[in-house]
Amino acid sequence: MKCPKCNIIMDIVRTKSHYYQNLMLDQCPECGGIWVDEGELYQIQKGEARIIETKNMPKLKKSLMHDDRPAICPRHKIPMLTFRDPNFPSNIPARKCPICHNLFFERGDLTKWQAYVIRRWPTESDRWVGRVKK
Ligand SMILES: [Zn+2]
Ligand SMILES: [Zn+2]
Repeated sequence: MKCPKCNIIMDIVRTKSHYYQNLMLDQCPECGGIWVDEGELYQIQKGEARIIETKNMPKLKKSLMHDDRPAICPRHKIPMLTFRDPNFPSNIPARKCPICHNLFFERGDLTKWQAYVIRRWPTESDRWVGRVKK
């Protein structure tokens, strides 16, 4: 899979889910953005986003800043749209493909998203999957 912004092949990153299975995400070696299936987003075990994003920090080239380049879905070659959802914080500029519903997070934003979830649903932080996903 190619990065929606940089158009180069992304690295496969393994992470843990709430169900103790491995999930595979894609991370761009250039901008550090993360490509994730919408359903899988809610399955990533808490704390894992930070592990992924800090582990690969030394090899990522770009600084931790948002950029204005458009994101193009690598599968459908159409612009990805800003992800809007009542449960999703508006200060995280995630993008979503209107066809495959895959999401793209800029570097650091997946960690912000997990921090938000833990703050918002603190008592269910281990099992917030059903509450968030309608
Ligand atoms: Zn990239
Ligand atoms: Zn798509």
